[in-house]
Amino acid sequence: MAEAPEYKRIVLKLSGEALAGEQGFGIDPDMIQSIAEQVRDVVDHGVEVAIIVGGGNIWRGIAGSAKGMDRATADYMGMLATVMNSLALQDSLENNGVQTRVQSSIEMRQVAEPYIRRRAIRHLEKKRVVIFAAGTGNPFFSTDTTAALRAAEIEADVILMAKNNVDGVYSADPSVDEYAQKYDNLTYLDLLKDGLAVMDSTASSLCMDNNIPLVVFSISEKGNIERAVMGEEIGTIIRGTES
Ligand code: UDP
Repeated sequence: MAEAPEYKRIVLKLSGEALAGEQGFGIDPDMIQSIAEQVRDVVDHGVEVAIIVGGGNIWRGIAGSAKGMDRATADYMGMLATVMNSLALQDSLENNGVQTRVQSSIEMRQVAEPYIRRRAIRHLEKKRVVIFAAGTGNPFFSTDTTAALRAAEIEADVILMAKNNVDGVYSADPSVDEYAQKYDNLTYLDLLKDGLAVMDSTASSLCMDNNIPLVVFSISEKGNIERAVMGEEIGTIIRGTES
């Protein structure tokens, strides 16, 4: 493993499902403990870590709206789900000795700071982990888009997208198609052109326009967050232009 980290400031995107572990819903204490330990190892390298966690393990707006619910209301519920996940993650990180601040895009001062960009950067400089909760604060967006937006705002070097059931980007779903091929390198244009289901198109466009690299990798293997931060070639790397 290389001595110095490849990236100094990262955005780690965890899907809600990553917190659910094997059970597929809710929050699995063992999984969250494993994630917290892995984040601690990265922080120990002096890397500045911002985390965005999804809410799909609790609630997804689109599912609510498919059942006749008003989409915006269902999306606000999704954003509240991300706050619950963020608090669980903060609790676990602090139990592991990692100073953590949660900043919420929807104000709820009793449980989290409001999102203030310059304050978030200050926390990062002090080596505190910052968890951005409540997505962008707007319905009709995703936490992938939140990761792209916040990465651009805090000038992160990379977005690390941790998946819990796949170890990179494939030409087809590898659990269904035995001929599915894994890509090592892609561009955002490839994602958009070929409709590869890595992140939604709003998030891809934002990353492309702001030239933010993205590493898609599996969180199932312990130590992978650190490997990705150290620049080991795991998973798939997506860039703005061909390298
Ligand atoms: N959401 C939203 N605006 C945002 C981010 C999230 O409305 O900026 C809602 C949306 O309903 C989404 C839910 O929050 O379905 C949970 O987020 P997401 O689906 O991105 O979570 P993940 O798939 O990563 O678990």
